[in-house]
Amino acid sequence: MILSLSNGIFSKLHLDGNFAAVKQLSFQNIEFNMKSIKKEHDTDVYREQKALAASGLNCLTLHSAVLHVKDPIEVHQAVYYGKISLECARALRTSLVTVHSNVSKKLPRDVRERCLREVFGEIKPFAKRLGIKLSLENLSFNSTGFGKNVDQLEEVLGVIDPECEMGITFDLCHALETKVVNNLLEAYGRRVCNVHMANKAHQPFTKETPELTAFLTKLHEYDYQGPITLELEHKTSLEEIAKSKALFEKLLKKF
Ligand SMILES: [Zn+2]
Repeated sequence: MILSLSNGIFSKLHLDGNFAAVKQLSFQNIEFNMKSIKKEHDTDVYREQKALAASGLNCLTLHSAVLHVKDPIEVHQAVYYGKISLECARALRTSLVTVHSNVSKKLPRDVRERCLREVFGEIKPFAKRLGIKLSLENLSFNSTGFGKNVDQLEEVLGVIDPECEMGITFDLCHALETKVVNNLLEAYGRRVCNVHMANKAHQPFTKETPELTAFLTKLHEYDYQGPITLELEHKTSLEEIAKSKALFEKLLKKF
């Protein structure tokens, strides 16, 4: 397993400062979160590309910009967010992009299905052309989006991924909050290709807990070798991030 940091935590900083903060903490790998970009101008991807190259950091994964569509009129905007995120992933040379279902949990099922088809009908072939794998993230019960447990994720995947080509981004914080860690692992253990790592409320793990050890042990049993991406709450201090990093450096030697 490979340690990585979501740079979304420094999204209030300009990009150079953002990467500098990641480097100050001695991380080598990042998940580039699209919320680090203030305004989505299409040509900004070149700025991102330059800043990443100058930093010497390695972009392992990218977190797509997301819109949880509440009305079909918003589909085109969700498609745009998806496509510009994929362009950015290409510029940063990563081939794994984490996505949400992009639909609101408030939509009735038939409208939800229509929106899912329309959004992913455009995003999927676009990703394929760029050689990028999409990875669907489990959401928390308090998210506005749809896809918090196995039932909901099965419904989404049944519509957007009948070929079972997509991966799963396992967000441990969301799974703990929603109390579905074991169910998700049983259903998707072999499909996990990214892990968002945090305790409830995106607090950092700074010491081992029984849940954390059980989770890492299971992932290891599924032969997971991908990123462990620390995805932490904005107010987490640098000291706490450093503590969490030290903990995972120790733990990942065992897995
Ligand atoms: Zn996440």
